[in-house]
Amino acid sequence: MQQYLKELRILGKTTGFVPTMGALHPGHLSLIKQAREGNDVAICSIFVNPTQFTDAADLEKYPRPIADDIQKLEGAGCDILFNPPVNQMYADNEQWHLNIGELEYLLEGKFRPGHYQGVTQVVYKMFNIIMPDRAYFGQKDYQQVLVVRKMVELLNMPVTLVMCPIEREPDGLAMSSRNIHLSADDRKHALVLSKALNITKENFDSNYIEKIQEYAIQMITHEPGVQLEYFEIVDGNTLHEADKDTQNIVALVAARVGNTRLIDNVIIR
Ligand code: AMP
Repeated sequence: MQQYLKELRILGKTTGFVPTMGALHPGHLSLIKQAREGNDVAICSIFVNPTQFTDAADLEKYPRPIADDIQKLEGAGCDILFNPPVNQMYADNEQWHLNIGELEYLLEGKFRPGHYQGVTQVVYKMFNIIMPDRAYFGQKDYQQVLVVRKMVELLNMPVTLVMCPIEREPDGLAMSSRNIHLSADDRKHALVLSKALNITKENFDSNYIEKIQEYAIQMITHEPGVQLEYFEIVDGNTLHEADKDTQNIVALVAARVGNTRLIDNVIIR
């Protein structure tokens, strides 16, 4: 991969990179589309990164439909797929990680300790291998974008990050590779997450933040089969609590629906 991409760079080709864990859905493919449109060559990686999983069962049951994925990538006009085995990405006993500061310890970081250290570890390796001009990440994993952006800033990495909007099912559920684990009932109950986010956005200007947050929390906790982990309305750059004067505001939610952990968010402004 490194040799091949070196040759492309010598030819002056620009590269757009989309890191994924596979089980591709239209959300992933929208990132590939942007990568194609903004660069000469679109590269996608499929790598279920063990170091970012905080739950062994979640890693074990993570879907890996590689033949389907390859077909979808071909359909989406992706130029290169990088699909390395774990033992090519990691030596046996790697004992290092980056520490990019408090962003990795808030929200998701609290509920999934070590998750973002796994993410920065693998994205750092991927960026070193691919050396993309641009890398495309989904707003779906909003905090991940902030964490990777911080890593790029701190390490002066020569890559431009592009955040792409959340692709949703027609009824509002954010697309996710984990949605296939939802039972028919879970699937109905899961809609409360995007509904609560929408209501938050719609009522933001005319209410106190605490009041809207409380309303959303009530909505979600009253939904059967849904166990709320957090619903926060925060500064979109720092993830600290927002107030009405905060310039960029995001509402973020994480909950277990049945046995499946889902996250979603909405940019309020
Ligand atoms: P994953 O395979 O879950 O690691 O996701 C790979 C990339 O696709 C990440 O940058 C995600 O944020 C992005 N992504 C996942 N779901 C969606 C979605 N529904 N809409 C847009 N991007 C998404």
